[in-house]
Amino acid sequence: MLKLDFHPSGRHFLQIPGPSPVPDRILRAMSYPTIDHRGPEFGALGRKVLADIKKIFKTEQPVVIYPASGTGAWEAALSNTLSPGDTVLMFETGHFATLWKKMAENLGLKPEFIGLPGTDGWRQGVKPEMIEARLRADTSHGIKAVCVVHNETSTGVTSDIAAVRRAIDAAGHPALLLVDTISGLGSADYRHDEWGVDVTVSGSQKGLMLPPGISFNAVSPKALEAGRHAKMPRAFWGWQEIIEANKNGYWPYTPNTNLLYGLSEALDMILEEGLDNVFARHQRLAEATRRAVQAWGLEIQCQDPAVYSPVLTGVVMPQGVDADEVRKRIYERFDMSLGQALGKIRGTMFRIGHLGDCNDLTLMATLAGCEMGLQLSGVKLAGSGVVAAMAHLAEAKSTPSLKAAA
Ligand code: PLP
Repeated sequence: MLKLDFHPSGRHFLQIPGPSPVPDRILRAMSYPTIDHRGPEFGALGRKVLADIKKIFKTEQPVVIYPASGTGAWEAALSNTLSPGDTVLMFETGHFATLWKKMAENLGLKPEFIGLPGTDGWRQGVKPEMIEARLRADTSHGIKAVCVVHNETSTGVTSDIAAVRRAIDAAGHPALLLVDTISGLGSADYRHDEWGVDVTVSGSQKGLMLPPGISFNAVSPKALEAGRHAKMPRAFWGWQEIIEANKNGYWPYTPNTNLLYGLSEALDMILEEGLDNVFARHQRLAEATRRAVQAWGLEIQCQDPAVYSPVLTGVVMPQGVDADEVRKRIYERFDMSLGQALGKIRGTMFRIGHLGDCNDLTLMATLAGCEMGLQLSGVKLAGSGVVAAMAHLAEAKSTPSLKAAA
């Protein structure tokens, strides 16, 4: 048996930007016995989660649920809507935008990757005016889809999806809008219908507080129509058969029953707290984190305050400090996992996750671990981030707690 004795006392602090800690209530729900996935109880479970997940995406349209990680749902979005050789316009916001672009290449699409030069784009959100300019120049409408990441998990930068929609409309271009909100859903405000998104891709292991293993495609009528003509080979990912079976709460194959128990519980938790309260809680914790980073005298990876992520904060190390060494020290001394910097910014910063099942004291412990780890690593700090974050949390209005309401 695998020996899990690496955190002998207290809880491990899983402060990476997903997978996020799974609350006990969800763990317990997932421990119910597995049932017949073609029986009546399963149908009721399926119908419930399929209806409730729409409230989180803010859509009246179908949301397809896959027993797969987010990468699978990326592939589903592309393969259901496009044909081999199609040009897709993708925007380089960071590592995950880059991986999605590589996938498009592997699938035989022709991605055009635009963005700011070097690593500059990895500190900014999508520039809708660049998308508009490129689409205006595409008078033959060769570009079939625009693909953007809503919350770039590798950097802690969000993008204004409504503005991307406006850019596409202003150019009078028929391209589909495909959006990855794998790490934004359930933490940052997201509106599939209102923002005119054609396919929204998401996953279970971030704001939804579930283990990895479920992913989603929310699908617009325009995307469904595109799917009828799209020639990309697809079998497992095909929407039509799944949506048909979903009408009665079932899937055309064996779904991951126990993760769906967990999803049902997670949706209850989020809807009980209220989506707006969930978003406000994330904003509040993110602001406290940023105040800590500023008090330390360190830089935040995101350079544009208008698009700071409510999910995670990237903390840039001073020249000559290896962020991975700092993370290692914090892991070994304080039993806390922080996110590493990915791709072309590897080693330059670390990422603090403040998403999902996180409250004021979870965050304070997290920031204390960071502050001690930075000091132990010899990083000269301008002041105490812990004190700055505490001051913010003590002053800033908290969202209504269920205890206060009782
Ligand atoms: N897109 C974003 C923004 C992500 O954060 C991730 C994973 O962290 C992915 C895509 C890939 O999802 P997965 O690792 O679940 O396949």
